[in-house]
Amino acid sequence: MTMPDLNTLRESLKPNCANCFGLCCVAFHYLKSEDFPINKPAGQPCVHLAESYACNIHSELRERGFKGCTVYDCLGAGQFVSQVTFHGRSWREGEVDGPRMFAIVPIMSQVHELLLYISDILSRDIPEGDARLLETLLEELLLFRESPPEQLTGTALMAFRQRARPLFVRLSQHIRANGLKQVGLTLTPLHEQDRADLIGRNVSRHDVRGTCYRGALLIGANLSGQDLSYVDFMGADVRDLDVRGAVLIDSLFLTQMQVNAMNGDRDTKLALGYMRPSHWL
Ligand code: SF4
Repeated sequence: MTMPDLNTLRESLKPNCANCFGLCCVAFHYLKSEDFPINKPAGQPCVHLAESYACNIHSELRERGFKGCTVYDCLGAGQFVSQVTFHGRSWREGEVDGPRMFAIVPIMSQVHELLLYISDILSRDIPEGDARLLETLLEELLLFRESPPEQLTGTALMAFRQRARPLFVRLSQHIRANGLKQVGLTLTPLHEQDRADLIGRNVSRHDVRGTCYRGALLIGANLSGQDLSYVDFMGADVRDLDVRGAVLIDSLFLTQMQVNAMNGDRDTKLALGYMRPSHWL
């Protein structure tokens, strides 16, 4: 397999709805909540999905209560499942196994998330040996992504995740420690906030540079005005996290969906390649 360069890989991790069969609007179930005004079972098309697979209320999603739709980002998984895994054939065609197609969407989203993580680390200054290990994982993941539908299982992906995790953890520490060293600081146990419950907390008074918030609950917390350089956001729940005026330029493992879920403003600084959410004033 020819390995894509990092820029090409990153570009392929952006959604292209024009090449997708509206999969996120069919595959997932929605529960009536702050994010959705209706219940919808998995596998059933949303009432607002047009024949063309476009959204009939795209320009007024937030006003109509579909905040969740403005946050969701498939990282390019939708078009990959549509065009590569199922060879450009839609779930609307009788002979296509729709339920299998829908079941693969969340798996492919996770594959693309892992690809994003790997491309993020590979773009940083890491030891040569670790870069080789990551490239091996990348190649394996790219091959897995091309598997036929029956082999794209959650179990296979979980096994990959478990193998990759120690390397992600070690390299996160390496990158965060190096980043802090550049500004005369040292990584300490206080920087390790994995899975911390910080819901609604005001963290904006502390210097959080270099902190690991992997899997942490930051829902509604306040990091406004903070320099979030070398902060690891892998898997953190950042819904309504206040990042007004914050600097996210050098944050680690930050996905577009996380950015979309945050509350920023015109002073929030993002790295190149991220889209500025329209609800950030
Ligand atoms: S409201 Fe629009 S974007 Fe949201 S699920 Fe329905 S069709 Fe898709």
